[in-house]
Amino acid sequence: MKINVLNYNNGKGVIGMKQKVILVCTECLSRNYSITKNKRLNVERLELNKYCKKCGKHTLHKESK
Ligand SMILES: [Zn+2]
Repeated sequence: MKINVLNYNNGKGVIGMKQKVILVCTECLSRNYSITKNKRLNVERLELNKYCKKCGKHTLHKESK
């Protein structure tokens, strides 16, 4: 599939290769963040240290589907 890179984030709609993912706290399993990731650039699963309101601290968040 050929992708025109210039069409990303042009404010006129979403191109097919973007994927919405939820980041889940690994300690309390709260779904704290939703992000959009580019499938082509981010193949592996994300693991990010983010603040969790429920835990009251920064915890490791992993993507969920
Ligand atoms: Zn948590």
